Amino acid sequence: MTSRIHLSALGIETESERYAYRDDGFVEDVVGHMQKVHKEFKQDACPIILFEGPYAGMTWPIIDTSPKLLVTCYVHEKDPARELFTRGHEETHVLHRIGQMELLLERLRKKGFDVDLSRYMEPSGNPTLDAEAKEVLADIGGFYGALAHCGLRQILESNGNCVLPAFQILSRARRDGR
Ligand SMILES: [Zn+2]
Repeated sequence: MTSRIHLSALGIETESERYAYRDDGFVEDVVGHMQKVHKEFKQDACPIILFEGPYAGMTWPIIDTSPKLLVTCYVHEKDPARELFTRGHEETHVLHRIGQMELLLERLRKKGFDVDLSRYMEPSGNPTLDAEAKEVLADIGGFYGALAHCGLRQILESNGNCVLPAFQILSRARRDGR
């Protein structure tokens, strides 16, 4: 069965055979919401309880469903560069999980960024990539999501030094070299 997947912060519409996607939108408390989602799908033994927040957003796979369901939620932020970043970040986790990062790279090329992610990419939607590398990939999508609102430098300032690796990748990939 093919599912439509709409990633609104990235402006990407696509399809997947193996995954479905549900964007639960803005919530008060990310971890609390995901615990409810787990109950909804009766995934009682859920490791999410162990996590310490606060989280700006989260994407969680419900693997007992067919197709597997990816659920995203996020909190509202006063600073649009933070909010759009978080949403772009979470949606990029989805894109990565369904093995369609190329769609993001295509859009970045249109914005003047020739990003080479070959060292981050494995052929199969790569579940084996380490957690830190996954976050860098997601941060690249975070920057893309917020670029509609402001420039790279301001996005970096709004989101802090933890997003510096993605900032550096994008700065190097910029065709006009600014
Ligand atoms: Zn993440």
